[in-house]
Parts: sequence; C-alpha cells; structure tokens
Amino acid sequence: MVKIHEMLLDQDAANVPGLSMTPKYITVHNTSNPSKGADAEMHAKYQRNGSGGRQASWHYTVDDTEIWQSLKDNQQGWHAGDGGGPGNTQSIGIEICENADGDFNQAVKNAQWLIKKLMDEHDIPLENVVTHKHWSGKNCPRLLLDSWDEFKEGISDNVDKKEDKPSKPSKPSKPKSKSISQMADEVIAGKHGTGHEARRKSLGISKSEYEKVRAEVNRRLGVSTPKPKPKPKKSISQMATEIIQGKHGNGHETRRKSLGISKAKYAQVRAEVNKRADSGTPSKSISQMASEVIAGKHGNGHEQRRKSLGIDKATYEKVRAEVNKLMK
Ligand SMILES: [Zn+2]
Repeated sequence: MVKIHEMLLDQDAANVPGLSMTPKYITVHNTSNPSKGADAEMHAKYQRNGSGGRQASWHYTVDDTEIWQSLKDNQQGWHAGDGGGPGNTQSIGIEICENADGDFNQAVKNAQWLIKKLMDEHDIPLENVVTHKHWSGKNCPRLLLDSWDEFKEGISDNVDKKEDKPSKPSKPSKPKSKSISQMADEVIAGKHGTGHEARRKSLGISKSEYEKVRAEVNRRLGVSTPKPKPKPKKSISQMATEIIQGKHGNGHETRRKSLGISKAKYAQVRAEVNKRADSGTPSKSISQMASEVIAGKHGNGHEQRRKSLGIDKATYEKVRAEVNKLMK
C-alpha cells in the first residue's frame, strides 16, 4: 500500500491532449532525471506548471515513498512518443523516479504494486504492461530495459502475495505462508517426518524453497559443509629459522624455491633473517640448542628457556622434541 496523492491536470491544459480513453495498456518509463529532489511530487508540480511548455503528460509518477497522480486513468496523455497510436491513446503512463536521494529499488517495488492495482481495476493483462521503447523505440525505461522480464515477474509476485479481499468472508482465508525460520523450527521439531522429499511435501513448498529451509536447519544444528583445510603453512619466523639453520641452501633464489614461496613472501623471510642477524642472535641449530638445554644453560621452565634461547614457540617445540629424543 503506497499513498497516492492527486494533482490532476485540466483537460484543456496545453500539455494535455484533452481526450478521454479506455485504458488497455500500461506504459512504464524512467524519469531520466537522477538529480536530488527529482521525486514524484516534483514531477507532479512540473506537469501542473505546464511541463516546461512541452506536450508532455503522464498519469502517475512513483518514487520510493509515494505516488503522485497527474491524469485520471481515463484521460489521454502524451508520454509514449507514438503520436495518435495506442501508447498515447490507450495506455496509462507511469514514470519511475531515479532521483539520487531516493531508493530506486523501492521505487520499482512501489511501481509494481501500482501496476498490479491498475491491472485489477481496468482488467489489463500482464502482457499489456509494456515499455516506452515498445511504442517508439526510445531507450526508456532506461534503468529497467535490461531487466524487463524480472520487472514483470515482480508484478506477478505481487499477484501471488495479494491478500484475500475482506469482501469475501465466506472464502476461507489462505493460511499465511510460513517463514523459512518457522519451517526450520518445525523440521527440527520432527513435525514433517524424515527424508527430504517427505518433509518438502509435508511443508507443501518448492524444491528451491525446501533447500532454503534445509540450509537454515543445518545452520541451526551447526552442520556446515566442511571446507578443505589449507595446508599448514610455515610462519615467516619458522622459515627464517630454517634458513639460518642452513636447511634451504645458499642463494636467495635457491632458498625461495626450496621454501616454495612467492618472491614477496621470501622478501619477508629475508627481512626476518636480517633482523635476527642485526639483533646479533646467534643462529644455533635445534641440536645445539637441545644440548644447551640439557646442559642447563637456559634454566628451568619452558617459557624461560625459550626466551633465553631467543626463539619462537614453534622453534622451541622442536628443541623440546629434540631434548626429549636425546633424553630417552
Ligand atoms: Zn519514457
């Protein structure tokens, strides 16, 4: 439900053909005016003020919050560019705003709602909802031509979502469709039995809809598709230690290839190696450090030993493993 304001043009206004019609089509336009403030009300005033002297007039202008009506549905307008053709003489013109300070997607939804309403009121079939381009070849509605089928499907969606009219109380009102979340609750509660097909039929939903319910159920139960675990990568620090230990030979390119890393990564490793060299940390082998630990040179307690050795945790773990091996 979108509020429709009226600012009707007189039949004898210069920008109005002055003829009546029985609407058989609905023609969709974009205003081609992305300026801020170029909303529905502004376009209604523009028409009321004579459309800048142009022979231009249309029925409804829609923005993201409201609709302004300028011509009655049975008044002809000048908007389709087909002269005395059916675009001008038998169609209701709807301009969808594209003002920068508006929400275009919402304006589109509002237009779809209005179109559905007019289709019902004038018994206009969906195939008679057309573009301005359909009548005159103009690139309009310029923002919807690429997605015209989707736009029309959006009107059909409104048809499906149409609430039952309160004027027919005898008809049992359709139960409101359940949300994905509600259905997931029920599936978890076991209300729809077991087996996907059985559950889907019990819920009375489409396969694509059931997939959504299933994903929601899995999400709640903490089931997720296992992601392939990335290969354990060595830290910059580990690689630097290995280089210092001579495990990757000499020469930067040789070392880089031996480590199997990119040049950028190798630069980081090299910087770390240089940093340690600068800080004067003697590069000892795991075996040497293990011997020192066994000899009691680094005190007691793992953290103390590690700090005394000046190595990272991963390297210390290797030293520890070596110590354990030697002490067996
Ligand atoms: Zn147009």
